[in-house]
Amino acid sequence: MSNVVTRIAPSPTGDMHIGTARTALFNWLYARGRNGKFLLRIEDTDKNRSTDAAQDAILDGMKWLGLDFDGEPISQSKRAPRHVEIANKLLETGKAYKCFLTETEINDLRNLAINNKSPSAFRSPWRNALPSTFPKKPFVIRIKAPENGFTVIKDEVQGDIVIKNSQLDDMILLRSDGSPVYMLAVAVDDHDMGVTHIIRGDDHLNNAARQNLIYSALNWAIPVYAHIPLIHGEDGKKLSKRNAATSVIEYKKMGYPAAAMRNYLARLGWSHGDDEFFTDEQAKTWFNLQSIGKSPSRFDFKKLSNISKLHIANTDNAALLHELTGYLKAMGQPAFSQAQLNSLLKSLDFTKNAVKSFSELIEKNRFILQERPISLEPDIEERIKDLPLNVLKILTPQLQNVRWERNYLEELLNLVCEQIELKFRDVAPILRAALAGSSKTPSVFDMMIVLGRVETIGRLIEFEDTYKN
Ligand code: GLU
Repeated sequence: MSNVVTRIAPSPTGDMHIGTARTALFNWLYARGRNGKFLLRIEDTDKNRSTDAAQDAILDGMKWLGLDFDGEPISQSKRAPRHVEIANKLLETGKAYKCFLTETEINDLRNLAINNKSPSAFRSPWRNALPSTFPKKPFVIRIKAPENGFTVIKDEVQGDIVIKNSQLDDMILLRSDGSPVYMLAVAVDDHDMGVTHIIRGDDHLNNAARQNLIYSALNWAIPVYAHIPLIHGEDGKKLSKRNAATSVIEYKKMGYPAAAMRNYLARLGWSHGDDEFFTDEQAKTWFNLQSIGKSPSRFDFKKLSNISKLHIANTDNAALLHELTGYLKAMGQPAFSQAQLNSLLKSLDFTKNAVKSFSELIEKNRFILQERPISLEPDIEERIKDLPLNVLKILTPQLQNVRWERNYLEELLNLVCEQIELKFRDVAPILRAALAGSSKTPSVFDMMIVLGRVETIGRLIEFEDTYKN
């Protein structure tokens, strides 16, 4: 085990966002590729916005994406006593102070600073007050931000960000009701969890400077930062419900395999040469902070589909069946029967090769998942009267005796076509309709082999009986 510790620290306030999934993935890859630890902290201090459902969505999303974390999830709100303890420690060591300003007084001070065009950050007049002057009034605890010098955020993606200390407020650590603020909670938790690398969205870059104030005041080692640019939609605007699906669960429901999502999300803002398609093992070995791009990445559904296609084609049948089962469950559909599972195991060999998603894969396997009577798709229903149904009368009896192997079946079909002076392509639509109820099916012979003699003949007879004029 190396000393690398990363974390994902989502706020449980809605669906799990695809950006959170990408951040989690980057942290997971970084830790797993270095034999380190990857932790999950739920930032649930905002009681008005945090919900159990949102927390479940995060856990479900992580599980689906295969982003396993070490130990139990850590609840930030449960650690409040520790945050208070640290604020008091800062108070005792003179790194923080009690501030008795009222809301009105603070506003007056701020307005004064604006009118005087004062460039400096907020400093309370209580900063250096003697305890003997303290009133018996509610107070907050503020950090004593350094007045001179600079704070440098060394960021692996953004480079060095230099901020004048005179621009950093004496921010509040504990509110007047004694509750800790978010910024304190994050710094204390990251320290206590032993986090060595903070990889997160660059919308948190400003927070890093303030969190560094806390680290420095406590003489804690500052973690390595990597603030990653956000994800944009195909229109170049920030990813939102208007330009893309934003929640992880939507991608699950669209039928993308988790491995494809991991592969695609890894490519979203990070690269390894021109490699587009890779395995988890490769990604874990290759992933580094230096190759994270500096500008926002664009979500590209076409690329996701292409990667998805490759993953589906390259997954072995048993694993694919397992994932398909999970997909059905997520869609609230009934599970496969044992007979369907047996047939699917055979049919995946020829159905998994050119599909972008599990929904397309299921569609291709419609011939297995349908039971008699086979329902027809609307476009077939309309065209049925134009098809040469008489072929069935000749073909079906001969299917009773043919050897049930692909080349014998092909030979028989060719003979029958010759007999009725039609081409196979004229006859195939009837067989597709009878066997699958659809025009988009695997090869007629592949379907026959998987369905077997009895079921194939059963479907052809029933079709003929139902649709003969
Ligand atoms: N809770 C923050 C969020 O959901 C992340 C904070 C952090 O990574 O430091 O965006």
